Amino acid sequence: MTQSATALRDSGRDQDFLAPAARLRGAGIGGLEELTDLERSERLARMRSGELGSIHSWELVTAVDGPGTRMTIFLNGCPLRCLYCHNPDTFLMKDGEPVEAEELLRRMRRYRRVFRASQGGITLSGGEVLMQPAFAARLLAGAKSMGVHTCIDTSGFLGANATEEMLEDIDLVLLDVKSGDEETYRKVTGRALAPTITFGDRLAAAGTEVWVRFVLVPGLTDEPRNVENVARIVERWRSVVSRVEVLPFHQMGTDKWDALGLDYKLKETRPPEPELVESTREIFRSHGFTVH
Ligand code: SF4
Repeated sequence: MTQSATALRDSGRDQDFLAPAARLRGAGIGGLEELTDLERSERLARMRSGELGSIHSWELVTAVDGPGTRMTIFLNGCPLRCLYCHNPDTFLMKDGEPVEAEELLRRMRRYRRVFRASQGGITLSGGEVLMQPAFAARLLAGAKSMGVHTCIDTSGFLGANATEEMLEDIDLVLLDVKSGDEETYRKVTGRALAPTITFGDRLAAAGTEVWVRFVLVPGLTDEPRNVENVARIVERWRSVVSRVEVLPFHQMGTDKWDALGLDYKLKETRPPEPELVESTREIFRSHGFTVH
């Protein structure tokens, strides 16, 4: 999930339910440590089949993470290490809470009327949702069978984990394109850019609607050449991209990095000036995109 989506969320929050307090590395997994070998292998088998997932939290939000009122579920585990991540407590799958797919589907069923009235639905976010493809597939298929709009928020780095069947159950993808050139992308995330482009190409071929998200960080992602390169990549998917969101960097995750004992490299970075946000949005507009 993008850090600035968190800022948006805080303004659009309706209600929290079962949102566990921020977990420290190693906290909240005491139970896992104490499992017998048999229990552990049973749990792993259930996770592989997607009956069980590792979750950070879930909440009801409005006007973030997709259209209408949404039940957003944050899955644990992420292969990226974005310097600006607001949820470093979702980096590791083992730090999450084990939750049954069925339990989440029961909750979704309860909110069906809210989703219908607001033209909302569910969003799977994280961490990285495609770290747990079988679990995600169950939630998406279950939501679809209830007639609920489905969305995933992903970097696309693990796009190869999304099966064709899974794509059929997804109405909207929030695709985070974290930079436009290989070098900057690696600097921001620690990983390669290519898998995101490949996944975007697949979504375009499948006709799946995409909202592109780009986090604007002064001194890191704000070079006009980098932004221009993001816009060129997004042009490949023009037929399916219905909006581009430029999300201004905010200092909101610092405490979590500190609490986890991790080195937060953006301590001195300030949010972008409104002029920079506007000129960045303008670059995407000049490529013909609707920009938010
Ligand atoms: S992709 Fe992973 S590391 Fe990057 S912002 Fe999202 S959760 Fe954090």
